[in-house]
Amino acid sequence: MNPQDTERAGGRSRWVPTPLVTASVALHVAAAATALARPRLWPWALGAVAANHVVLAGAGLWPRSQLLGPNWIRLPVDSPVPNAVAITIDDGPDPEVTPKVLSQLAAHGAHATFFCVGERVERHAELAQEMARNGHAVENHSQRHRHTFSLLGPAGMREEISRAQDSILRVTGSPPRFFRAPAGLRNPFLDPILTRLKLRLASWTRRGFDTVHGNPDAVFDRLANALRAGDILLLHDGNAARDAKGRPVILEVLPRLLDALQARQLQPVTLRQALPE
Ligand SMILES: [Zn+2]
Repeated sequence: MNPQDTERAGGRSRWVPTPLVTASVALHVAAAATALARPRLWPWALGAVAANHVVLAGAGLWPRSQLLGPNWIRLPVDSPVPNAVAITIDDGPDPEVTPKVLSQLAAHGAHATFFCVGERVERHAELAQEMARNGHAVENHSQRHRHTFSLLGPAGMREEISRAQDSILRVTGSPPRFFRAPAGLRNPFLDPILTRLKLRLASWTRRGFDTVHGNPDAVFDRLANALRAGDILLLHDGNAARDAKGRPVILEVLPRLLDALQARQLQPVTLRQALPE
């Protein structure tokens, strides 16, 4: 699916299952029917279902996969802003790091998309409000950022997403329009929930791995080496790794990244600004 199709499919009012999800449902029905009609074949039916679950789990463990539903891995080709790149910043707001990130963005006149954790938005409401006031987008990264998110059933998943939706709306006055799963991990229940909540799923083109790697040069290279229009880049203001001097890595990388964008005449935009009109 190319990004243009992703965007068309992303603006859905009705959930349409992907071919993988449709085939999986059909396989479950066929396996159950086989096991009932020919009981001696039940081990084969069970084996087929187990194999299908391995495929579905694999698709959910691959953050940039589009097998479980539409997923922005680049900006749409018909984005209204030419030469745009989206910097996305996850896991905040963080009382130590986020104010400095906001100053660095302001110094470059740049806008970013913050995928915020709902309970952190409630705890640091003034930071989330400052993001919104300064023209950044505050989007949904679940209420608690549970590492077991992709193991939740439909009710648990819906609760994590809709509570964050409510927290962010209450604090910033504006409802999120994009969702990113904790660690990018998903399962087949997610897509219908996002459709109902009018949220689009966004992952990334490249990530800096800046929660685990403390070397700012390596993080910068990972993000900037192949930089081009349409990229969605991922950094973290929450859970940021520290460099050798104990500084959060994002604060070393972000100014260099903004300079690199400027040098290549690429415009930093929020994901919302890249929505086709
Ligand atoms: Zn995260």
